[in-house]
Amino acid sequence: MTTNASRAQWAERAGALRIASGLFIDGRDCPAIAGERFECVNPATGAVIAQVARGQAADVDAAVASALLAWRDRRWRGLAPRARMDILFRFADLVQQHGDELALLETLDMGKPISDVLAIDLPEVLKTIRYFAECIDKIEGAVTHTDAQALHLIAHEPLGVVGAITPWNYPMLMAMWKVAPILAAGNCVVLKPAEQAPLSCTRLAQLFVEAGGPPGVFNVVNGLGIEAGRALALHPDVIKLSFTGSTAVGKLLLGYAGQSNMKRIALETGGKSPQIFMPDLYDLDVAVDRAVGGIFDNAGQVCNAGSRLLVQRDMVDEFVRRFVARAGQAYTPGDPLDPATRLGPVVSQAHQRGILARIASGQSEGAQLVMGGRAPAAAGAGAYLEPTLFTGATNRMAIAREEVFGPVAAVIAFDTEEEAIALANDSDYGLAASVWTRDLQRAHRMVRALEAGVVWVNCFGDGDMTQPFGGYKQSGNSRDKHMASLLSYTQSKSAWFQIG
Ligand code: NAD
Repeated sequence: MTTNASRAQWAERAGALRIASGLFIDGRDCPAIAGERFECVNPATGAVIAQVARGQAADVDAAVASALLAWRDRRWRGLAPRARMDILFRFADLVQQHGDELALLETLDMGKPISDVLAIDLPEVLKTIRYFAECIDKIEGAVTHTDAQALHLIAHEPLGVVGAITPWNYPMLMAMWKVAPILAAGNCVVLKPAEQAPLSCTRLAQLFVEAGGPPGVFNVVNGLGIEAGRALALHPDVIKLSFTGSTAVGKLLLGYAGQSNMKRIALETGGKSPQIFMPDLYDLDVAVDRAVGGIFDNAGQVCNAGSRLLVQRDMVDEFVRRFVARAGQAYTPGDPLDPATRLGPVVSQAHQRGILARIASGQSEGAQLVMGGRAPAAAGAGAYLEPTLFTGATNRMAIAREEVFGPVAAVIAFDTEEEAIALANDSDYGLAASVWTRDLQRAHRMVRALEAGVVWVNCFGDGDMTQPFGGYKQSGNSRDKHMASLLSYTQSKSAWFQIG
């Protein structure tokens, strides 16, 4: 992967890129059966970069049929664990070799700064594939303690055809958090990427087959959520559906499961994560730096974005002063192909309009806008937004309760530790939280009290593949990463032998 190209060099490579825009079924690119397409738009410029095949129910049927055949003839689960590991390791190597191409696809498709894709998304994708490949021959069942006349074995078996529906904010990474453990467990998969940014996912499926993955094991159906996504969620031959996306769509999927075959539904959904800054924190500059990154990285389009900044009342003025100075230095909206850019556009003009409406609602509810709040004047057709900060917010305001999914944070003042915990937990969501304090006892107390699937202490967003990632409450019912995720794509089989 290249790390030292200039903006002009990336732009030149972007111009020469060949984009796969079909569906990927049974190891082959193919058009949608009805021949329809949808536009993929570069949010930095408004230019159409591809006309992508628009899969619908018939295409989902074809993809599931291909996966079901691959499942039944055991071409993947029947391979020795080591053979499957080798294919996944080769897959990771190919992803690495094609890193520049994949990074460009991600940047052109959803506006993510190219330096972020190279420094974060791609390395995390590689770690994900390699971690789950390494897990394959570590899956162990059990022999339980029975009387001498019996032998009782418990085995973990793969499920069958698993569906995955993923969002656009980290297109490759969110897809691999699903696909890698699904495949490692021995299943076959049909992936429906987000229609806003589908291009890199199709390329990943091609690379899996290039690495020796059998056709039909990893299929991609591009298309709209309400068409291809809904058809996948209703499909009677899909035994589990793994979803990352909004809470609203997650609720629909639970309904589709009930209307069809009662498939298992794993949900990783929205968040409104609090970062709590106690007066005894170590270093305000470090804390502010992470607060700024926690809401402006990826233009705030992060499920665990630290969008609620709970700051002890005596520190608010200094915190805000340093936050505005730091954000102004580091997060000027800019061309995502420029390696110096840390804040690109949001994913689309429609999303930009939605975020501006939420900013207007914050103002009308009485929060004070102290930074940003507008689309930059020179943005043209680009879906750019200024990094935005409110102060004087309360936890009752929509700006503190609803997910904005953009570069918008709100400072909420508190007086005591108890009040901070109550405010943090007063949310429909419970994906992540952080606590900044130098008091070890306080840190342990607060970690236990916070209703969130992930709690960071004196950091934000840190972790590795051993960290189960997922939420409490309406942030979801499942966990990505970690061996537990792989096991969630298996089911137990009990075998009871009478031997005496
Ligand atoms: P979204 O819910 O609009 O779309 C997600 C996926 O669902 C897309 O592929 C879409 O096509 C599909 N979809 C939409 N309607 C559907 C339907 N009726 N039936 C089946 N599929 C349908 O979400 P988004 O805008 O792509 O992503 C942003 C959301 O994802 C945010 O809420 C964010 O918090 C969440 N997210 C959560 C995590 C996590 O790990 N918890 C990670 C990343 C993003």
